[in-house]
Amino acid sequence: MASPVAIAAQAGKLLRERALRPRLLAVRSQAGHLTPRRWLNLQEYQSKKLMSEHGVRVQRFFVASTAKEALEAAKRLNAKEIVLKAQILAGGRGKGVFDSGLKGGVHLTKDPKVVGQLAQQMIGYNLATKQTPKEGVKVNKPIEKVMVAEALDISRETYLAILMDRAHNGPVIVGSPQGGVDIEEVAASSPELIFKEQIDIFEGIKDSQAQRMAENLGFLGSLKNQAADQIKKLYHLFLKIDATQVEVNPFGETPEGQVVCFDAKINFDDNAEFRQKDIFAMDDKSENEPIENEAARYDLKYIGLDGNIACFVNGAGLAMATCDIIFLNGGRPANFLDLGGGVKEAQVYQAFKLLTSDPKVEAILVNIFGGIVNCAIIANGITKACRELELKVPLVVRLEGTNVQEAQNILKSSGLPITPAVDLEDAAKKAVASVAKK
Ligand code: ADP
Ligand code: MG
Repeated sequence: MASPVAIAAQAGKLLRERALRPRLLAVRSQAGHLTPRRWLNLQEYQSKKLMSEHGVRVQRFFVASTAKEALEAAKRLNAKEIVLKAQILAGGRGKGVFDSGLKGGVHLTKDPKVVGQLAQQMIGYNLATKQTPKEGVKVNKPIEKVMVAEALDISRETYLAILMDRAHNGPVIVGSPQGGVDIEEVAASSPELIFKEQIDIFEGIKDSQAQRMAENLGFLGSLKNQAADQIKKLYHLFLKIDATQVEVNPFGETPEGQVVCFDAKINFDDNAEFRQKDIFAMDDKSENEPIENEAARYDLKYIGLDGNIACFVNGAGLAMATCDIIFLNGGRPANFLDLGGGVKEAQVYQAFKLLTSDPKVEAILVNIFGGIVNCAIIANGITKACRELELKVPLVVRLEGTNVQEAQNILKSSGLPITPAVDLEDAAKKAVASVAKK
C-alpha cells in the first residue's frame, strides 16, 4: 500500500525529473509540511552583490546577457585572467555541459575575445549539470545571464555554509577544509572533515567560534584572522537578510594571501518577504513552470504531476491524502492545486481555469474540507467556473464541513453534470472510474 510518504517520494521522483534541486526542496517542503513555503533562490551574481555590499570579499565582476556585452565586460575588467560563469540556479556548473557542445559552465581565459566566443556558446543554450533535469536549464537572456569576473589563482578550496538548523533551532556554521567539490560526497566519505559551530542567535557569533572554524578549515597565520573576519561578516549578512542558507563553495585562498568567496548561493525564507522587499524584488521566476507563477498570482499553490486527474484541495495534508487515495484506487494525479484558507469565489474560478488549461487533465476531483473555508463559496465558484469555462471533463466533488448543506443544494440545483461524492474514498473511486471509461 502506498503511504503518504511513498507518494511524497513518488511526487519527489517525478518532480526531480524536471525541477532543479533547490526548487525540489521547496516543493517537498510545501507538500510535506502543513506550512506551505517556497524558498527564494538568487543567482550567483545577485548573491555576490549582496555579499560585497556587506564587506564580504568576492572578485570584481560584471554581468552580461549577450556575447558582445560579455566581450566588453572582459575588456573593462582589465584583469590578468577572466572567469566566465553561466548563471543558472543550480550548482555543479563547472562540470556541466551545454547543448551547444561547450563543456563546462565555468571557464577561465586570459583573452577577452575568447570570453565573447565562449559566451556565444552559453547564452541561449541549456546547461545540464548534476543538479538540473537531463535537458539542462537555459541560460536565457535577458533574465539569465553570464557572469564575467576577474579570475584569481586559487591555492586552496574550502567549504563554508551557514544555515538554519532545525535540530539546533538556530543557525549553524558548517565547514570543511575539503572544498570546491560536492560536499555531500565529503560528508559521506570523510565525515571527520565536516566541522560545525552552533550559534546562539541571541548572543551572536563569538570571535572564538569564527577563529575555531577558520582553523578547522586550515587557514594559517594571517589568513586565519582574515577567514574568521569573513565568516563573521557572512554570518551578519545571513541574519540581516533573513537567509535560510548562505553557501560558499569554494571559500578559497589565493597565493597572494587573500581569502575570497569564489561561489555563492543564498536561499531565503519566504515569510521574510515583507521585511526584505528589495531582495524579493530580485526574484527570478523564469525557472518556475509558468503555471506555478500564474497560480502564485492568485495565492494558490500548484504542483504538477504526471497523471490525468486534477486535484483541487485545501491544505497540503489533504492534498497528499487525495493523491494517495487516487493512487490506491488505480489512478494517477495530474497535479494538485491547494486553495489554502481564506478563499474567495474568484480564486476558485481561477483555480479551475488553471487546472483545465493542462491538456493532460481528463477529470477533476474536488476535495475540500470546510473548516475556515465556507463550502458554499466553493460551490458558487465551481458552478460559475463550470458555466463560463464550459468544462469538458468529468467533475467529482466532495465537500465537507462548514455550510456543506447549502453547498450541496447549490451544486444540485445548478443542473450541471457534477458527480457528488460522500467521502474521500467515494470521490477517488468515481474520479478514477470516469477516466477509465474514456
Ligand atoms: P559550481 O559550483 O556551479 O561548479 P563554482 O563557482 O564553484 O561553480 O566554480 C567551479 C570551480 O571553478 C571552482 O571550484 C573553482 O575551482 C573555479 N573558479 C570559480 N571561480 C573562480 C575564480 N574567480 N577564479 C578562479 N577559479 C574559479
Ligand atoms: Mg561551487
